[in-house]
Amino acid sequence: MTQVTEGVYFIQGQDEMIPDSHVYVVGKPGSQDLSIIDAGLMGKGSYKIQSILNMGIELKTIARIIMTHTHLDHIGCLAEIREQIPWAELWVHDTEADPLEKGDERTVYGMEMFQNMCMMQYGLKPGAFTFYVDKRLQGGESLDVGEMTWEVVHIPGHSPGSIGLYNRIEKILIPGDVVYADYAIGRFDLHGADGSELKNSLLQLAKLEVNILLPGHNRIVTDLPTGYIAETAKQWAPYLT
Ligand SMILES: [Zn+2]
Ligand SMILES: [Zn+2]
Repeated sequence: MTQVTEGVYFIQGQDEMIPDSHVYVVGKPGSQDLSIIDAGLMGKGSYKIQSILNMGIELKTIARIIMTHTHLDHIGCLAEIREQIPWAELWVHDTEADPLEKGDERTVYGMEMFQNMCMMQYGLKPGAFTFYVDKRLQGGESLDVGEMTWEVVHIPGHSPGSIGLYNRIEKILIPGDVVYADYAIGRFDLHGADGSELKNSLLQLAKLEVNILLPGHNRIVTDLPTGYIAETAKQWAPYLT
């Protein structure tokens, strides 16, 4: 785990056959009000917890887990992490909260073929990803957590309830799987995905001034060129209809 800036820590995903999402821990040290952003793949819970401990962060200072979205590579080890911090609340966008509470796992797995493969490979039972959601995010609100302010931006298209978290003061964007480094974007062929929504979401993100891009996979960028997201949206626009 490395520190990106004061109050933002990065834990690199450990990809297997299936990718493991990065995890970010946000909140000023000493606030006792830290948030974990995303969890990761099945089996990666102890790696993520150990990384947090190695940074000298006490688990009791973690108040919540916020999901950028509920795909398997982000939510797979949520239960493992919550075993270590059972008091932590779960915050998810409204659109993906309902299915999560009802045990509708179509968004988690994205496609049926992948679901069957994963359930066999990891010995997962139907309903393994059923969670109570403590707070339903809508988009447009500001979260005052850990002595920082994170604006919630609803950016559907990769998944219906994808959110970005934006810190306006330090110009940091945590976009989940919506936009990555190197002009890459998230896939838009899974359950609930929509290319034209993804285009609109990219255009919405392009309005934000972003210096630090902290995506769900691949490299993080701490000196993002001006207009990067607008340029990414432009390059992909012909495919996002
Ligand atoms: Zn995803
Ligand atoms: Zn992902």
